[in-house]
Amino acid sequence: MTIRGVRFLGDSQSETSDFPDIEPGPNEVLIRLRSSGLCGSDLRNYYASAGERDINVRPGHEPCGEVVALGSGVTQVSVGDRVMQHHYDGCLQCFYCKSGWQQLCPVDDTRGYYGGTRHGGHGDFMTAHESTCVKMPDEVTFEEGAYLACGASTAFHALKKLDLSGRDVLAVFGQGPVGLAATMFGEAMGARVIAVDVNAERLKMAEDAGAWKAIDNSDGTAVEQIRSLTHGEGADATLEAAGLPVTRVAAAEAARIFGRACLVGEGGEVTYEPTPHIIHRHLTLIGSWTFSTFGLAEAAQFVADRDVPLRSLITETCSIEEAPGAYTRFASGTPGKFAISWA
Ligand SMILES: [Zn+2]
Ligand SMILES: [Zn+2]
Repeated sequence: MTIRGVRFLGDSQSETSDFPDIEPGPNEVLIRLRSSGLCGSDLRNYYASAGERDINVRPGHEPCGEVVALGSGVTQVSVGDRVMQHHYDGCLQCFYCKSGWQQLCPVDDTRGYYGGTRHGGHGDFMTAHESTCVKMPDEVTFEEGAYLACGASTAFHALKKLDLSGRDVLAVFGQGPVGLAATMFGEAMGARVIAVDVNAERLKMAEDAGAWKAIDNSDGTAVEQIRSLTHGEGADATLEAAGLPVTRVAAAEAARIFGRACLVGEGGEVTYEPTPHIIHRHLTLIGSWTFSTFGLAEAAQFVADRDVPLRSLITETCSIEEAPGAYTRFASGTPGKFAISWA
């Protein structure tokens, strides 16, 4: 038997092709994929030239599916469990691994992640260590589970770090898959959310996701627009999910004095002027990178308990055969969340 899966060929080319069958090793489980999200950080591997990464490793770090077989010694997961993947490997011995933060494991030679250094979710089956399997509430769909496995839970935990409450106005810079989830979660947590983007379609999605205001930053006036919506003060909290120098600065400037700003968008750089941007404005500037295994379970339970309609942000689901076309559209900036689905 072969596995149908996606292969990144290099330089933004991909195909669906056959891969050899797999079996779970000790403490591993075999998962039949039901959904696998496309995340912005997959694009770094997609854009990479041939030779920069192993093209025989299936991408996809938002895997979600059903456990169909167990390797030896598995005790925490059963056949039939619906699981999301906390997609990082670790030594399983250190403080970070034992507290569910395998991505922070300092033991270099054991670190890796599904969809990067070992097979991810863009295939009919994958194997995963039982420690990375996080069970899902019944109310959460497989597509939502895939979204939660990276993008949506990243937004959820950034908002927790911002200590967001119903007293706050929250400005979210960037309405891609992470920013849209932040808009929806921010509204569900009671805040009034100002969604910022330069794309009209994304701003419409943000409004539908519950944004109090959706503002167009095409002319670079987001900070002024946010201040005028907040009695000249600025937002209580801001979240930067675009990963651009200009929105990173704006996220600091748009926060009120004594406000909080959180950086989530990765890569690139920024220049802050410490005195006007941070010190004299008593800004609390924080960073947030993904979440722990327990954090993934918590975000999924929040979606179930509050009936957060994450599924409404998933604009394209495709088959594994259609995945290369979906990557072309995703890489071109088509709005919304993309996921590969298996019936
Ligand atoms: Zn470790
Ligand atoms: Zn991701």
